Amino acid sequence: MSGFSGKSVLVLGGSRGIGAAIVRRFASDSAKVVFTYLSSPDEAETLAAETGSEAMRADSGDRDALVALICSLSPLDVLVVNSGILGAGDPPDAIDRLFHINTLAPYHAAVAAARNMPDGGRIIFIGSANADRLPMTGLAAYSASKTALKGMVKGLARDFGARGITVNVIQPGPADTDMNPADGPLKDVMHDFMAIKCHATGAEIAGLVAYLAGPEAGIITGAAYNIDGGFAA
Ligand code: NDP
Repeated sequence: MSGFSGKSVLVLGGSRGIGAAIVRRFASDSAKVVFTYLSSPDEAETLAAETGSEAMRADSGDRDALVALICSLSPLDVLVVNSGILGAGDPPDAIDRLFHINTLAPYHAAVAAARNMPDGGRIIFIGSANADRLPMTGLAAYSASKTALKGMVKGLARDFGARGITVNVIQPGPADTDMNPADGPLKDVMHDFMAIKCHATGAEIAGLVAYLAGPEAGIITGAAYNIDGGFAA
């Protein structure tokens, strides 16, 4: 396929899991892909070699470094903010860092990218179905950090709409990654909450990313899309 030939795509947090699947999808669709990583240099290097993409180390929790990186790569046709961490409980510094990565980074990255994005550009956040349903304890901050993205895309969609730039959030339910392995200890608990009792694959989520980034989705903006086997239904 060559659906994104000539398009410049940045995936924040692409070394593993859903982000790596998104990198693979855009690369196989002929995009020029750059992705960031933080703690997994070996995985990043292997993925870059496999896909012909470029890996760059950048902490999504470091606003100035993130904005500088995006400015250096601009203009971008597509920005995907996938980097995210799952934090349980309430150690204060860890909770603050969670909000820096999950909530503030998407905002600053989107604003920096949109500044030089061509008309018709695409900005996609990876949120969580926990923005719509949180049937377990200890995840209040995580849920709040992802719920904020639903409001954020509405505002940014208005801010950038005049230039045809769309801004949307994809909200996965359980997806088979290091963060949430399909054979992990919480598997049965999570499947009990779902209509289709199975973890999503990264490739399934990447398919929705590709659709929202593609030419058929130019009228979709300010929206949240659950891809969750009915977790939030
Ligand atoms: P993983 O933990 O498997 O992978 C996370 C990815 O994000 C890695 O590539 C990691 O890079 C990168 N990352 C994390 N923190 C940073 C940072 N500070 N700077 C740069 N990159 C960073 O997670 P998933 O693939 O499961 O999750 C991806 C997204 O999907 C997250 O936003 C998550 O909240 C969301 N999500 C996941 C669900 C699931 O069930 N898996 C369900 C709902 C939402 P590195 O290893 O190099 O640090």
